[in-house]
Amino acid sequence: MTIVTRFAPSPTGGLHIGSGRTALFNYLFAKRYNGKFLLRIEDTDQARSKKEFEDIIIESMHWLGLHQDDEIYYQLARAERHKEIAHKLVEIGKAYFCYESQEEIAKLREEAIGKGEHFLFKSPWRDGNKPGPEGVKPVIRIKAPREDQTVLQDLVQGEVVVQNDHLDDMILLRSDGTPTYMLAVVVDDHDMKVTHVIRGDDHLNNTFRQLLIYKAMGWDIPKFAHIPLIHGSDGAKLSKRHGALSVLEYKEMGILPEALNNYLLRLGWSHGNDEIISMEQAIEWFNIENIGRAAAKFDMQKLLNLNAHYIKESSNERLITLIEENVGNIEPKYKERLLKGLDSLKVRAKTLIDLTDTSKFYLTDDIIITSEALNKFDDSKASLLKQIYELLNNIVNWELTNIQVKVNEFLEANSLKMGQFGEVVRIAVTGSTNSPSVFEIITILGKEEALRRIKNLLDK
Ligand code: GLU
Repeated sequence: MTIVTRFAPSPTGGLHIGSGRTALFNYLFAKRYNGKFLLRIEDTDQARSKKEFEDIIIESMHWLGLHQDDEIYYQLARAERHKEIAHKLVEIGKAYFCYESQEEIAKLREEAIGKGEHFLFKSPWRDGNKPGPEGVKPVIRIKAPREDQTVLQDLVQGEVVVQNDHLDDMILLRSDGTPTYMLAVVVDDHDMKVTHVIRGDDHLNNTFRQLLIYKAMGWDIPKFAHIPLIHGSDGAKLSKRHGALSVLEYKEMGILPEALNNYLLRLGWSHGNDEIISMEQAIEWFNIENIGRAAAKFDMQKLLNLNAHYIKESSNERLITLIEENVGNIEPKYKERLLKGLDSLKVRAKTLIDLTDTSKFYLTDDIIITSEALNKFDDSKASLLKQIYELLNNIVNWELTNIQVKVNEFLEANSLKMGQFGEVVRIAVTGSTNSPSVFEIITILGKEEALRRIKNLLDK
């Protein structure tokens, strides 16, 4: 049997990180078993569905490396097929035309609630062959069993039981002939030969209603795995106030896709004590048994730590390409400098934005000196920098260890500390108070440029 999973987003917004994790789990499970990972756009809510959201969702998935197999399925385009199944169910006696108006049902509901009763609509058209009233367009309702119970062996939640008298005769086809979401999902999953439905546990209730359709049609029922939702660090359901919600916002924050994947994977799934898990390894190891049952708590610090790790592991060539996405094309002469300096910069960066910011002094010769740095630069520091200028100007062999030797001699002779040298040179050549070793930086910049920057500051 080929394992087939699917990700079924509604294009009514971007890709939420919780949905990103659902997509990731479906992808990993399919790949682990050499199966297929399908994408279905659930665009039946025509008022809220937008092409731009669909594009964003696909862009986000592909950025994460979650490429779907086969063509993309569109739910709306399959409406005729959904309709056909609704009529088929009527034909085989598992569904019926119901003529009760929405107003009448609302009235009955209110009455029941008034009496403190649980309301379950019982249609007068369910059993008899009563002809419908003239001119009224019926809906098609499923004939839900009234006795017994429905048991779901969920791969994450375990056994979940619902009493059948809690399941109503839900609508499959509206009076305007459009299929309901409940019907569409089941028909699509069946036609797409989906073997495992992995989705958020907010869909658990829907599953019981969807099972009615599988059973009525006599179709094979896929396995279900309802995964806990992601919560914020305070335990409440993840929302805007906890921070960024969409996958692309994380991209814009300078998170690498492999860091987000690794983070989302570990959020609610474990493999011993492993924290750093590559995509290849995840495909090898992923299983449903190790998905936790408790809601996962989002922890930005952990994500940043993973991101720092993956930035450190990235090749300098790749990082330059990513920095260029932020600042535009980098001229060859600056690129060459950056390439030499990146090893020291990338070990300090938590995000690509950090990395871009801290790389800036290699990317231009017109550095901007931060006000924080300028405030630290008083007269006594200026006179020290003047001396350093003379010292550096006299160095002929502009090579790292030689510069170090000459600077050390100077510091010793003047009873100065390395920190004093570093501070003023750093302000002059990087414009900030925080950077990798200034020896490395002035070596990479070259004598002429390093001295020019020092002079610039002295002239201020
Ligand atoms: N379209 C549904 C959603 O975005 C998913 C339905 C499903 O996975 O079955 O929540």
